Amino acid sequence: MSTVRVFRDDQLPKVFHEPFIKTGYRACETSLSECLRSALYRTNETLNFWTHFVPFLYFLCRIFYLSSYLDFLNDPFTWPLLGQLVCSCLYLSASSVAHLFCCLSERARHVCFFFDYSSLGMYSLGCCVAYRFYAFPHNLMNTNYFFLYIPIAALNAVFMCTCGASGSRFMKESLFRHLCRLSSFMFPYIFCSLPLLYRVAACPDDECDAPSVVVHRWQFVAAFFTAFIYASHFPERFAPGKFDVFFHSHQLFHIVASIATNLQVDALLIDIKERRDFLIATIGMPTFWYSIGILSIIFGIKLFLILVFSIKVYSKPENKHVYMVNGEIIENSCTTDLGTCAHVRNGGRNLTNGSCVVTNGKRKNNNHTHKSRKTKLKNH
Ligand SMILES: [Zn+2]
Repeated sequence: MSTVRVFRDDQLPKVFHEPFIKTGYRACETSLSECLRSALYRTNETLNFWTHFVPFLYFLCRIFYLSSYLDFLNDPFTWPLLGQLVCSCLYLSASSVAHLFCCLSERARHVCFFFDYSSLGMYSLGCCVAYRFYAFPHNLMNTNYFFLYIPIAALNAVFMCTCGASGSRFMKESLFRHLCRLSSFMFPYIFCSLPLLYRVAACPDDECDAPSVVVHRWQFVAAFFTAFIYASHFPERFAPGKFDVFFHSHQLFHIVASIATNLQVDALLIDIKERRDFLIATIGMPTFWYSIGILSIIFGIKLFLILVFSIKVYSKPENKHVYMVNGEIIENSCTTDLGTCAHVRNGGRNLTNGSCVVTNGKRKNNNHTHKSRKTKLKNH
């Protein structure tokens, strides 16, 4: 089996860099087969893939197991749970695929993460639908807040998670961009969790006696650590280059997020069992359109928005990466193992042996191929 090429961060364009990760990068124009092979090779993305792919298989098995005693087809009461489980599988599988194929090209990397962010929005919405029908505090049921909860969550899923997070990929690398992306995920999650947080923290109507409450609390503890690990880049922040392949923050983030999702399903199952009669009597049976229906509609809108963002990415001229080797200019390969890459946009005048620059692709002949192609440039 042929090997997978790996590189240092200074051999790749900046768009491929991860904070505090120094080595183990795949080439930024990796072929499809090399991407697939990299799942079994030591790169800094390998465990990012597995830490979401294994939970995806687990939740898939869990759906099949639950369908042995829950009637997902004929019992409308189970539809919000089914929606939440499918959305969980969606975000886990989209994330795995994004991490595996994000090195196909610079443009493909953007598209991969559009899917990743949009699936997280679907997951937030799936949680909201499940919370509304199973976990809402008694004293907030049938209020205006209760009736507006799903419509606002749907808007959040579209505008925050898709437009906000995906749009942030068009911004320049900065703290603002990082905060923008983080808040695009955090705001919808916090909005969805507010009624449940109120229920498990304020205990209205002695609701904390419910057996699900302790599991919901553990879910929030895990969710807090998920956000902390993602935002802090712990532990690689304190030892850059030491956690490039194993135990860097993104892998830990995936693992703790999967644990939080599992605790969430556990708690919902307890609520479904314990509160079923009370919920049906108080808020009625879930309807198709307010559970599976709204999830399907928002999923369709998100696919359309991903298409729009992808067209925007592919309609821009592609960045060119130009290297000077032995007095000769090599362009089109975005990875070089020949020297350190300087990545000067629109530059090229200061090329030295073994260095590289990035231009904005304004040259006419900008076909991108996987192989480097030697070109004598007259005007760079
Ligand atoms: Zn990830």
